[in-house]
Amino acid sequence: MKALVLKQHGGSENLAIVDLPKPSINPEQVLVNVKAVSLNQLDLFVRRGSPALKLTMPHIPCSDVAGVIEEVGSAVMGLSKGMRVVLNPGLSCGHCEYCIAGEECLCPEFKIFGEHTPGGAAEFVALPARNVLPIPDSISFEQAAGASLVFLTAWRALVTRARVRAGDDVLILGAGAGTSTAAIQIAKKAGARVLVTSSSEDKLQKAKALGADILINYRTNPDWDREVFAKTNKRGVDVVFESVGAETWLKSIRALRKGGRMVVIGGTTGLRPQEEIGFIFWKQIDILGSTMASRHEFNDVMKLIFRGELKPVIDSVYPLEQAQQAHARLEKGEQFGKIVMTV
Ligand SMILES: [Zn+2]
Repeated sequence: MKALVLKQHGGSENLAIVDLPKPSINPEQVLVNVKAVSLNQLDLFVRRGSPALKLTMPHIPCSDVAGVIEEVGSAVMGLSKGMRVVLNPGLSCGHCEYCIAGEECLCPEFKIFGEHTPGGAAEFVALPARNVLPIPDSISFEQAAGASLVFLTAWRALVTRARVRAGDDVLILGAGAGTSTAAIQIAKKAGARVLVTSSSEDKLQKAKALGADILINYRTNPDWDREVFAKTNKRGVDVVFESVGAETWLKSIRALRKGGRMVVIGGTTGLRPQEEIGFIFWKQIDILGSTMASRHEFNDVMKLIFRGELKPVIDSVYPLEQAQQAHARLEKGEQFGKIVMTV
């Protein structure tokens, strides 16, 4: 079968199409004929490598997968050949105290499909049946693959962790990120007023079309935290959705109101920001970490996508053979929404 592999950590020249044997499944898995995968910041992290990430090379990348079930394991209930499905890429043990409590993403053995295990960028992939959700015909494979990781991440961060509610002001950094396009819609659906930042006027206008209320260009307005204060009657926002990290950390904290909540889902510009703990205790803010989501949160957010109430934003679609170009677009931050690859 055709597969995309990472031959070794480094630049996108290490991505190549190869021929691999079709995988076999165990009784609790399904074999999926993959139709689309999508890229996340995680794919850049996996490609570049880090001391903590130990992978067997060549590594098949991609966490977001949608396709058609080709074969069903003997112990699998409720799924059958021919079903169109999407993957929840959070893998957990299923029997620890957190898994039993329905908080799978706190599982000590939690892994992300495609990061800690081989991923889905291949014609066929063996997936754990408990992580597979059927999709309705109204959702394309590209939309399904573009939805899963970013929507489940934004849902847990905003709804479960930051408890966004009607009337909140929510600041979302970097309008074009896939997680941001999900977060804007989720915050609006919860009844919040949404502020977004971007260096691009075009991306700000696209964010407005998704529902963003207040647009802040951080290129023309480097003191964007002051702009947030000005736009909120010198109060600050209730919630910051923070994924940028070192470059924005202190300004994000400054942009919060007293008693506000900052939910942190990543740090694409660096994990060791300058810190001033005086802001934290004097403003009495909550800093909340969030990673991926539990199965019930995945099901909750996908239900809204299936109903058409939340919409995956697809920036561009590449054939798997053009993975290097797809990576380059994500790496340059040119995208608005998700970069999808068809298999
Ligand atoms: Zn567990």
